[in-house]
Amino acid sequence: MKVLKLMMLVLTMCVPAMAQAQQPLLMNIRSAENFSNQQYNKLMQAKELVEMIINSAAFKSRVLSFSSNGVQGFVQNNGMSNQQIFDYLMSGAEKYPAQTVADHFMDYDLVLYKPKWYQSKKVLGYTSQDTSIIHINKKFFNDAEINQIAMNLVHEWTHKMGFGHDFKRTARRPSSVPYGIGYIIRDLGNKMYGMNMSEEMDCNH
Ligand SMILES: [Zn+2]
Repeated sequence: MKVLKLMMLVLTMCVPAMAQAQQPLLMNIRSAENFSNQQYNKLMQAKELVEMIINSAAFKSRVLSFSSNGVQGFVQNNGMSNQQIFDYLMSGAEKYPAQTVADHFMDYDLVLYKPKWYQSKKVLGYTSQDTSIIHINKKFFNDAEINQIAMNLVHEWTHKMGFGHDFKRTARRPSSVPYGIGYIIRDLGNKMYGMNMSEEMDCNH
């Protein structure tokens, strides 16, 4: 009887904590084409960093308090509040190329590509709504710090979640979901590892 009472007490104490715990969002790299062993190792480091940051209290706090020009919220937010965007991202339910269930996995099919002569290193990668493939600029990837790669991976993935941004460097573009979330990832990665990277970069999709 004493044991049972103790168990009840433990259960009562644990339930609220369990109810609050959020299921972590993890990266599922289904395929990675044209990666050497060295490049794949770098990708794995970026994956580890993304998972650490995206499930952190600091990330949640930065997303929930995100504001643009003194107004709380992302621009081009698909009608969602910061809390809704956070919850939706953490669900891992991709919209493109086809709706997936809320499995708490960010799905990735990656291809490293050699940029054409006219593409600067600042075009980090691209994707489109009709494919699961995300192309990553090999030159960017080779030169990038881990937190920059983490930023790019999450930026491109938010396109799979249905968020867009201006093609050109408009004033509002950094406050779009892909750029806003990407910069949060980069900056928290920078804080955690003392990496440096602050200039604006372009996603060509
Ligand atoms: Zn983009």
